[in-house]
Amino acid sequence: MIRFVDVARTYESAETARVQALHGIDLEIAEKEFVAITGPSGCGKSTLLHLLGGLDRPTRGEVWVGPLALHAADETALTHYRRHDLGIVFQFFNLLPTMNVLENVTLPLLLQGVSPAQAEPRGRELLELVGLSARTGHFVHQLSGGEMQRTAIARALVHRPRLLLADEPTGNLDSVGATHLLEVLQKIASQALTTMIVVTHSEEVAAAAGRRVRMRDGTILHDASPA
Ligand code: ADP
Repeated sequence: MIRFVDVARTYESAETARVQALHGIDLEIAEKEFVAITGPSGCGKSTLLHLLGGLDRPTRGEVWVGPLALHAADETALTHYRRHDLGIVFQFFNLLPTMNVLENVTLPLLLQGVSPAQAEPRGRELLELVGLSARTGHFVHQLSGGEMQRTAIARALVHRPRLLLADEPTGNLDSVGATHLLEVLQKIASQALTTMIVVTHSEEVAAAAGRRVRMRDGTILHDASPA
């Protein structure tokens, strides 16, 4: 489903020296795989995720998501891709403080033009999946960090994306929050709800994934399923 073909990304600017963040990456990820991307800071993980999110383009090579050529897609196609095919979870939750939990979760559907009457039951379904049925009316400041992140996951899945990208989803959580989040990720994988690519420093998250891609200096050092 996802294919990187000889992907390089070089950052160049007047102020900084040339940085080659990715060197000729070849990578294939199948539909519904749960993949952890690990590696030291600066090895290119975020660059890889940005390319998959259609937020950046490679300097060389091809990035395919199904039939969509992200390296060549125009803004209209990229906007459609981000709105319909993609769910993203960040380290810092990025929830809207003026909306309650259910409103945050249904927002991607409303942006697609789905009516509130149709969006609401779907939102409740996702909040049940992440174990937050009792928090639908809460506002963001009334949640723990772990609950915020589970809300963010529910929001990222509400429109049935083909691909879920997560950037350090447990990076800002305490151990209880991280454990609950990991259970949710495992549930998503076991129900084969979507393809999941998670950048993480957490050994627990990496161990739970079906496959671990270790990066170093812009290359893939090791790519394997756990023994
Ligand atoms: P990671 O996510 O693994 O920490 P990144 O993908 O963020 O790594 O960065 C890879 C390399 O590219 C690093 O050396 C980083 O300093 C550099 N880099 C990232 N973004 C930019 C940018 N916008 N301009 C210049 N260099 C960048």
